[in-house]
Amino acid sequence: MRVAVDLDDVLADLISHLLATHEKICGERLTREQAVRWDVFPPEVHDHVRFGGGYATLEPLPGTHDFLQWLNQGHEVNIVTYRGGHARDITVDWLDRHFPHLYDAVHLTGGGKVDTCRELGVGLIIDDSYNQIPAVTSALGIPGILIDTPMNRHIEESDLIRRAENLAQARRIIETECLLHP
Ligand SMILES: [Mg+2]
Repeated sequence: MRVAVDLDDVLADLISHLLATHEKICGERLTREQAVRWDVFPPEVHDHVRFGGGYATLEPLPGTHDFLQWLNQGHEVNIVTYRGGHARDITVDWLDRHFPHLYDAVHLTGGGKVDTCRELGVGLIIDDSYNQIPAVTSALGIPGILIDTPMNRHIEESDLIRRAENLAQARRIIETECLLHP
């Protein structure tokens, strides 16, 4: 089965980097729990991360390697990221450095993910976005795993949406609910 896996705050620890960049630029230390909206960070912080090479320095989140190794056995792993096309090289370099041979393709949508997921024919999406998970699951009628962040706690579980604290829990949900088909 084809699966869409998000990058930022699912595989890569973007929030920690935003917090560190915010402290460096604005001189103010925020906690992860305070990062409840993207506009908590001023535009210059986002721009510094997006265009200043910040993507190259992100740390993989715990358990990512094991999760991709498990998922990649028998399934097609499509990294579907909201990042724009300008970030293709830095994104591919990062993925190949941390997860060589553990994914099949990367798609930089630069916006909503519904069309890309529909064209790919994905049967499951794993994402942390409070916008993308409801949009893709309802448009395609497929299940989605929402990886917990302080920004998405208002999204409740539904017939199609399951919440997971991390990728290890996502795997348990996928296995228990048989969300992957050959
Ligand atoms: Mg994300």
